[in-house]
Amino acid sequence: MSLEIKPSVGPAEAPPGFHMLSKPTGAACNLDCKYCFFLSKDALYPNDRLRMSDDVLERYIKQLLESHQTPTVTVAWQGGEPTLMGVDFYRRSIEYVRKHRRPGQQVEYTFQTNGVLIDDEWAAFFKQHDVLIGLSVDGPRPLHDAYRVTKGGQGTFDQVMRGLDHLRRHDVRFNILCTVNAANGDHGRDVYRFFRNELHAEWMQFIPIIERATPDTLPIANLGWSVRPGGQRLLYTQSGSLVTDRSVRPEQYGRFLIDIFEEWIRKDVGRVYVQMFDVTLEAYFGSYKLCIHAPTCGYGPAIEHNGDVYSCDHYVEPGYRLGNIAETHMLDLVASPTQRQFGLDKQATLTKQCLECDVRFLCNGGCPKDRFASSRDGEPGHNYLCSGLKAFFDHVNPAMQTMARLIKSNRAPAEIMEMYAAKEHARGSDGFCYCGSGKMFTRCHGVAQA
Ligand code: SF4
Ligand code: SF4
Repeated sequence: MSLEIKPSVGPAEAPPGFHMLSKPTGAACNLDCKYCFFLSKDALYPNDRLRMSDDVLERYIKQLLESHQTPTVTVAWQGGEPTLMGVDFYRRSIEYVRKHRRPGQQVEYTFQTNGVLIDDEWAAFFKQHDVLIGLSVDGPRPLHDAYRVTKGGQGTFDQVMRGLDHLRRHDVRFNILCTVNAANGDHGRDVYRFFRNELHAEWMQFIPIIERATPDTLPIANLGWSVRPGGQRLLYTQSGSLVTDRSVRPEQYGRFLIDIFEEWIRKDVGRVYVQMFDVTLEAYFGSYKLCIHAPTCGYGPAIEHNGDVYSCDHYVEPGYRLGNIAETHMLDLVASPTQRQFGLDKQATLTKQCLECDVRFLCNGGCPKDRFASSRDGEPGHNYLCSGLKAFFDHVNPAMQTMARLIKSNRAPAEIMEMYAAKEHARGSDGFCYCGSGKMFTRCHGVAQA
């Protein structure tokens, strides 16, 4: 098939850049994480091998590079589990980048993995091409192993730690991606301390697990999303207003983030990057790096192994397929009226409660996939996580305002740690913790670091 498809939209009608997540193995994964509804997406492509061919790979790289007017382009690999393609697939992808990039065009690589197949060869390859790794870890062993299991149901903690050792030995940059779920949701501070103290992580993202279901599908959904011999199986779609037992509760999510914030603000500002804190601070300057809390979205589409493009990684389902890059140039798909409307709907469908909310400039109603609850006025389409998000944004608002003021006066936001220390010294260690946990300070965030 010819590579020569040209975009029909001009630069003025197209976004200068976007973040395309590529899924070279589709939904295929070597693990069976219980909350991973992406596993069910192989039902979209029955009888398909779920591996990106070289033909699709080259077309994807070429169109991605052609589509960008920004100086830097990100090639983002995701899954399923992208290591299942084997390292040679990514060597070829780098050759295609060399072949198709414009003079001066910079390319950076990101790679989201469960880590279990990472060995010396992978780590050396990542180091050679300065690939930023996103490693999925849900906390110390018991919390990680609660849901992140092999096809045989065994915990994967040791395998992931082995993969991380290889990354460390080769000095590969890595980012921890931690889901927040029913099992680890009450242990925010322990999870954070484990990442910082044991894994020496300097970048972390926390992603709430919310698996939606209807009254009919909930019993099956609670069993998990993988193939069950002879058993019932669902294709996960963003529908239903119930959630599985593994899903984080709204208040639990808020508490999890607050517990981590209280640790971070005292010890780690400027040293540890927590995505949610960083994007919240950016919002005080009117800048939104994360689609979830931006006013609109639509610049994070996903490409499947066969070249199908979907509106978003969370909407890989039939109603959100934009087209295939063998038939329509990627840029035309990303700039299409359908995709533009998808992004604008994020703002257009806010509930009255969101429109009147005093932290809307920080939250912007969250992700549309999570808007399946009712607002306090009974309006449908409200964010399931609202109570947790509101608690978090209210809690951090004073400290964030202080850091924003420091930045505006050309001072380091990390100065806030001295302010906290001075305030706590003046107050002494009596009384309840600032974090609002209801515990005494000495038994909560005043406790000596583990
Ligand atoms: S639907 Fe949600 S995850 Fe997808 S682009 Fe919009 S805000 Fe981001
Ligand atoms: S905190 Fe709740 S009400 Fe406020 S913007 Fe977010 S989802 Fe809407």
